[in-house]
Amino acid sequence: MNFRVGFGFDVHPLKENHPFYLGGIRLESAKGAAGHSDADVLLHALCDALLGAAGLRDIGFHFPNTDPQWKGKDSRYFLQEVMQKLKEKGWQVVNVDCTVCLERPKINPHIPAMKAVLAPLLGIGEDAVSIKATTNEQLGYVGREEGVCAYAVCLIQQAL
Ligand code: MG
Repeated sequence: MNFRVGFGFDVHPLKENHPFYLGGIRLESAKGAAGHSDADVLLHALCDALLGAAGLRDIGFHFPNTDPQWKGKDSRYFLQEVMQKLKEKGWQVVNVDCTVCLERPKINPHIPAMKAVLAPLLGIGEDAVSIKATTNEQLGYVGREEGVCAYAVCLIQQAL
């Protein structure tokens, strides 16, 4: 087996009266993440981790935010496309581990729903999908609730 690790990071601003998509689900929240697509930071960080592991550039390279066809796009589509690119190279996901930095809403109650969405897209069991949440202790742009960011790492394997 050939193994690779990958790392991804993403950030989006939080805006009032904006839908909040995170981890492939919609959260009830006074503020939501704004961006060209649906601004799902967790999925964007995850896509970058997967692309990075496979040496396939980054999400902005494949789905540029200047392209009108990606405006408002559901990020689950990006993850599906990224998985297809990995599959074409013979890569399978072993596990993913993600951390979301956000003051509110608390996302711990929503993590099981996110895992249920992501596991089938990644082709792995829910036990191999880790999603963790932390606040930023009221420090910086996350602490001031101006933005949300996410980090992701993944391990992928390829049969030799
Ligand atoms: Mg993004």
